[in-house]
Amino acid sequence: MLRLVFLGPPGVGKGTQAARLARELHLAHLSTGDLLRAAVAAKTPLGLEADGHMRAGRLVPDALVLGILKERLAAPDTRHGFVLDGYPRNLAQAAALAAITPLDAVLAFDLPREVLVPRLTGRRVCPTDQSVYHVEFHPPKTPGRCDADGAELVQRPDDRPEAVGTRLTVYAEQTAPLLAHYAAEGRLRTVDARGTPDEVAARVRAALPRA
Ligand code: AMP
Repeated sequence: MLRLVFLGPPGVGKGTQAARLARELHLAHLSTGDLLRAAVAAKTPLGLEADGHMRAGRLVPDALVLGILKERLAAPDTRHGFVLDGYPRNLAQAAALAAITPLDAVLAFDLPREVLVPRLTGRRVCPTDQSVYHVEFHPPKTPGRCDADGAELVQRPDDRPEAVGTRLTVYAEQTAPLLAHYAAEGRLRTVDARGTPDEVAARVRAALPRA
């Protein structure tokens, strides 16, 4: 059983690493951003309420996110553990999470801000299988098309330059205080997020607690 939180600013690559580690270790990959985007796409009441906050780069209200997280944590694929990607994002969410489950480690991904902005604004995603590309650093074989299914790649509304600045400010003000919080609990391990996905994946493995 391995219960992990991946923490870090938007664009740091934690989603890529979370998906990969979850696949390798048979853990559930729980991305609150993905769950919220699915709710927006399905136009559920939750999705309709979340949409405006997300487009602007603001946090969705805590109570809404906690609801979908609890539902997702109850699914059977979490039995070997999980990688939480994008939750918690403030101290209140960390307290809510602590009331639901213990954690084995919190991995904090670290990257200079000047690298984050181009990573976000150049990101493109496949609306069908959610795979992630970058126009410069990880281009698809055919420009604008998903390698796996040929679907036309899209830019997330919150990866537009107008929202990126807000997201980085929200991270600095609300989420970054979690680093000290988890460090004080003795659970924090920092991962240098520079370099290729393979290089970062090796550092993730080295940072995991021993079974
Ligand atoms: P992400 O895919 O993790 O970058 O999340 C995209 C957007 O979803 C964020 O900018 C927020 O608007 C919303 N979101 C995701 N996770 C949370 C959370 N834990 N609390 C509040 N809002 C969230």
